[in-house]
Amino acid sequence: MTLLKDLTIKKIHDGLVNKEFTAFELTKEFFDYIETRDAEVQAYLSLDKVGALAAAEQVDIAIAKGEEIGMLAGVPMAIKDNLLVKGLPATAASKMLENYTAAYDATVIKKLKEAGAIFLGKANMDEFAMGSSTENSAFKATKNPHDLERVPGGSSGGSAAAVAAHMAVAALGTDTGGSIRQPASLCGVVGLKPTYGAVSRSGAIAMASSLDQIGPLTKTVEDAAIVFSVIKGKDPLDATSVDVVYGDELLNPKLEDIKKLRIGLPKEYFIEGMDDYTKGEINKAIEKIKSLGIEVKEISLPNTKHALSCYYIIMPAEVSSNMARFDGIRYSRLDALQENEPKTLLGIYHEQRGQGFGKEVRRRIMLGTYVLSSGYYDAYYAKAQKVRKLIKEDFDNAFKEVDVILTPVSPTAAFKIGEKTSDPLQMYLSDIFTLTLNLAGLPGISIPVKQYEGTSELPVGFQLVGKAFREADILGIGQFYERIR
Ligand code: GLN
Repeated sequence: MTLLKDLTIKKIHDGLVNKEFTAFELTKEFFDYIETRDAEVQAYLSLDKVGALAAAEQVDIAIAKGEEIGMLAGVPMAIKDNLLVKGLPATAASKMLENYTAAYDATVIKKLKEAGAIFLGKANMDEFAMGSSTENSAFKATKNPHDLERVPGGSSGGSAAAVAAHMAVAALGTDTGGSIRQPASLCGVVGLKPTYGAVSRSGAIAMASSLDQIGPLTKTVEDAAIVFSVIKGKDPLDATSVDVVYGDELLNPKLEDIKKLRIGLPKEYFIEGMDDYTKGEINKAIEKIKSLGIEVKEISLPNTKHALSCYYIIMPAEVSSNMARFDGIRYSRLDALQENEPKTLLGIYHEQRGQGFGKEVRRRIMLGTYVLSSGYYDAYYAKAQKVRKLIKEDFDNAFKEVDVILTPVSPTAAFKIGEKTSDPLQMYLSDIFTLTLNLAGLPGISIPVKQYEGTSELPVGFQLVGKAFREADILGIGQFYERIR
């Protein structure tokens, strides 16, 4: 069989159709490999060997019957642990949900199941997706497969590490401020955050509902396009999802169309904060993209300097409201009540929420409750909403001049485990280049500057930002870029 490390969705599809291997054999091989490799990487929180092998058998039966199979049939995937897969744990890496089993499938999971995808297991993450290093998981810290002393990024660090370490061919993550793109960049894989509304969030454990999106992490841009084409679409279970028709160019971009796209480099993203290594790598990518014949010019997004503070008002406000549902009574944490059981309802809340939530989650609930409280609401929350509008308008103006915007993903490559845990502000800066897109609702993709496998260098990704619902533009440039990388 082909080496696991060489597999892409495309190659798996061809291999299955040409009967080079069966889905069952492939799935088994992945579990054998996970057993050794994940002992050091720690990407998975739980595995579902029985379910995955049974699903693989169904794919093999369909092939044996001569049925036509879709591109994702038999493709081994990792699913971030804040996405519900019926019958499997969904802890969101929190003690609060330690004993919770998902009662239904998220819409994205339903779609992937119909397409024949195989779910190997649930991937580690920062608790409730709050963090940039996966160190906020209540259960364990995932390691960067390129250097086990470093973080994989976060919050979808388990998903990114699983793909980068060849323990899955693709994964799903969620992105509220950068949680798909930043770990993709730090692990050297591709990560797509779709436009707000492009993918249903039904069955995703919400963090900040006006910012959250679900998207794929994959080895190639082409694979990201394939997964996105399956999970996108309007869903009656998510009122924010929209009906958009994506043309042929999503999966089959043409170079003559791609060459017509103009790319903008926002000067505010290239001024300060980036380390020299990251800057150098990104500049190489820009030169390569120019060599495709695409016009690249400088643009300005003047309100960028307000984005981080705006995000850290709006996000915690929504977090504090979303976390209110975890009272310790629902979702089964009551089992964990201590011997000195509190006698009052308030006592139960204090005990359950105090013990069930980790430090970062509690920090954000307090911040969010504060900015929403009467007396502070206008000064913080209402003001941040106005700033959010300005940030969105910056992008609207820029997109009159260019079609796509290119930026760094994160100011640095993967940092050491423990390096930023005592300084939340340093950690928050990891997402300075990505969270603007969540505030503006725009699609963004992180693409590795080169192949880092087998080198001693740390991966670096660059980000392409598209107009709303123009995933095809950023995926298209990305696909041509990776052919000449
Ligand atoms: N790292 C950012 C945060 O901690 C983004 C998280 C995310 O996108 N889920 O809020």
